[in-house]
Amino acid sequence: MNILEKIFQAGVVGAGGAGFPTHIKLKGVAEYLLINAVECEPLLETDKFLIRYKSHEIIETLGIIADQIQAKKVIIGVKKKNTREVQALTKAIETLNSRVELCFLNNFYPAGDEQVLVYELTQRQIPPGGIPKDVGVVVCNVGTVVNIYEALHEKPVTHKFVTVLGEVKNPSIIYAPIGTSLDKCIEAAGAATIQDYGIILGGPMMGRIIDKSQLSQEVVTKTTGAMILLPQDHFLFKNKQQDLAQMINRSRSACIQCSFCTDLCPRNLIGHPLRPHRIMRSLSVDRQQHEILKEALLCCECGVCQIYACPMGLSPKSINGEIKNLLGKEGIKYSNSPAQSEVHGMREYRKVPAERLLSRLDLHRYSGKIQEGYACIEAEEVKIPLRQHIGKTAMPIVEVGSVVEEGQLIAKVEEKDLGAKIHASIQGVIKEVNHEFIWIEAGEKVGMQ
Ligand code: SF4
Ligand code: SF4
Repeated sequence: MNILEKIFQAGVVGAGGAGFPTHIKLKGVAEYLLINAVECEPLLETDKFLIRYKSHEIIETLGIIADQIQAKKVIIGVKKKNTREVQALTKAIETLNSRVELCFLNNFYPAGDEQVLVYELTQRQIPPGGIPKDVGVVVCNVGTVVNIYEALHEKPVTHKFVTVLGEVKNPSIIYAPIGTSLDKCIEAAGAATIQDYGIILGGPMMGRIIDKSQLSQEVVTKTTGAMILLPQDHFLFKNKQQDLAQMINRSRSACIQCSFCTDLCPRNLIGHPLRPHRIMRSLSVDRQQHEILKEALLCCECGVCQIYACPMGLSPKSINGEIKNLLGKEGIKYSNSPAQSEVHGMREYRKVPAERLLSRLDLHRYSGKIQEGYACIEAEEVKIPLRQHIGKTAMPIVEVGSVVEEGQLIAKVEEKDLGAKIHASIQGVIKEVNHEFIWIEAGEKVGMQ
């Protein structure tokens, strides 16, 4: 079995993003292999943990991936301030006599945005609406590389390391079987310290809000990286849960066209024709200019404009997200245009310092609280979603009542299709199979050996 087949068989998808199937990403050749190890969202610790604990596995695997895609250069982007992680990687590179290079980034947000990272590490500009391969680059996240290492040793993706922090007794890294309910993750972090809390799944800037009443229904997936518990009255919840009509009305009446949102937009700064202030202005006129609204398709929804830049508390990011949804439903895509310009001359001075962002987010009190090591969850049951990746939903191949082993294939996709295989994350008995998930009850509970 070749490397791509092993990765496909193990169901590896991008661990840090939307879940793009990795065996497809690694098809073909690329000049550069870049590793995103900057973990730029405030408070998150999972990737740093993986680097410290699995640096040898990461460096060893990078050599194999680089050979596969015939990369001439392999570079890990890591923040200069993360000295323990830099040391771990440096030691692994020396021990393995690897050709992997480290590139040190300052502590700014969003250093981990794929397009920003490619520019930082190669000085190449991905064209607007393009992907890294357009400029001869493949980017992988640290978690994905660890999963590739496991796949090469015949171990499928069954578990995920997740940062659980904020208003919990023991902010921790949790090692959870895929399909574990989020309330179990909170339990594993010593339970919530307050009654009235809300949850952000992912980072504070780009994560989504989970309704507390849905906690037992929401589960850990292959792309879950963090969950943050915050007091329900934290401004982030109000900021992320605005009604569209209200956002548009506020934009029409309060946008002063200062253009700070555009001035600090990381995508605009690397030369993409994304001008959120013009999108906001377009909302104020009766006949919206479609060409301007299409610029929203270039938005990575990093939130800098909304949470950091706008002096009027408006929501360009959320509005861009809505426009992207609407255009997506109509099948409208961004067509590559020659409108790409040079990287902005002020870019270096307009990067958002991560420490200042943390203060702006009012999250300093939760920083640096994660305990060393990790806690394992022994799940009594898991509900494993059939769609944890971009592409086709996986097809179940097990029936109610079947006994499955941890790591056993339970849902498949064809190799020609965009998608990823799904495996049992615990040993047990299949309790339910439907078009959304496969429910497994743990062996012990049903009297198995
Ligand atoms: S920063 Fe706010 S007020 Fe200024 S142009 Fe952008 S949306 Fe309008
Ligand atoms: S969220 Fe705002 S700052 Fe970030 S890419 Fe989109 S428009 Fe630019």
